[in-house]
Amino acid sequence: MLLRTLPPASDRPNRTSRHTRRQPVRPSDWPGAKLGKVQRPRPDAAHQEHEATPVRTCVGCRQRALISELLRVVAVDGVVVVDERRRLPGRGAWLHPEPDCLTKAERRRAFPRALRVQGTLGTDGVRNQLERLAQRVGVRELPGP
Ligand SMILES: [Zn+2]
Repeated sequence: MLLRTLPPASDRPNRTSRHTRRQPVRPSDWPGAKLGKVQRPRPDAAHQEHEATPVRTCVGCRQRALISELLRVVAVDGVVVVDERRRLPGRGAWLHPEPDCLTKAERRRAFPRALRVQGTLGTDGVRNQLERLAQRVGVRELPGP
């Protein structure tokens, strides 16, 4: 009786929506009930992974650096974009926030290779962003070799 098919929605007044929700469908009747807890993707899982291996190679100068010193970039629709929150899906590449490193990466065509993209990738957006960052931080004096 409880599993009787409900009448079409047009036959029911709107108020019955509360009633239908209370209809005692036993959880064990659902096909997916035996799966138990649903595994949800945890937003900080990737973050923890980064903490475990906090060093990456800059695609520009090829020097290793802490990821906190690098920008993560990903390819989106044929252009390289800065993944400021380091949460975009897909393959990422790491770059010093230095125009020089960007230039080196462009010359070596490092982005398509690092991001596993066929063809070329536009980097204008990244360059603009680096220039904005440079203005915000001011010109940094790099230590000599
Ligand atoms: Zn670099």
